[in-house]
Amino acid sequence: MSASPAKNAVRLVLLGAPASGKGTQGATLAAELGIPKISTGDMMRSARDAGTELGKLFDGIMSQGKLVPDDLVIRLVDERLAQPDAQRGFILDGFPRTVPQAEALDRLLADRGSSLNAAIDISTPRELLIERATLRRTDVRTGQIYHLKYNPPPASAQLVHRDDDREETVLKRLDAYDAMTAALVPYYEGKGLLRHVDGAGNPAEVGQRIRGALAELTGGSSSVSERTPELTPDRRGGANEG
Ligand code: AMP
Repeated sequence: MSASPAKNAVRLVLLGAPASGKGTQGATLAAELGIPKISTGDMMRSARDAGTELGKLFDGIMSQGKLVPDDLVIRLVDERLAQPDAQRGFILDGFPRTVPQAEALDRLLADRGSSLNAAIDISTPRELLIERATLRRTDVRTGQIYHLKYNPPPASAQLVHRDDDREETVLKRLDAYDAMTAALVPYYEGKGLLRHVDGAGNPAEVGQRIRGALAELTGGSSSVSERTPELTPDRRGGANEG
């Protein structure tokens, strides 16, 4: 490994059900902090789009709303965390999703002389999650995420609806979240790393709640608290539902 982990870096896990806003919030915060957002779902969709054997396997599992086996996901994350940009800190979006993944993450970081310093759970009512996912659309050219009702796309957008955002699959993904991922709340609570934020409201409001929780967790020692004053809701008003 070329670089050792930075001492006061933000190493954050974002928890929350599908469509709770992890992707949108994680991307905004990562850009503000100058650290990567690592999304296992994005990595799997890239592998699928590249048409690799592994990508085909991921596609079959994702389209059913099921979870990819832990060992495969852990390997992806291990490789990603070894990249130089992740030594400055990172935001994990969609990983871990099971207790064995969380335990593996702790081991991977410990092997690198590092550890997580924050976990934030975005709690959102189920009806809102279903409405967000089923009306979520992505512009294929820009990657921009829109919501047909709350954040409508411009006429020029070339929209796609994620296969797994169709209602039947969303319900399965929410069930998988309740069955497997909700257990991470007590896991991180037990380590004193967790804060809950309310995921209802517009992205700027939820973003402010997340920054407040992160500043509490990192005790003001991370770069987020130094940067907080510039992060007014007005400047974030254009963020997306996601
Ligand atoms: P996401 O974009 O995070 O909602 O993930 C989309 C899909 O990718 C999920 O429904 C799973 O099928 C798969 N996936 C993403 N991350 C994980 C993970 N950490 N563990 C297992 N499966 C995952």
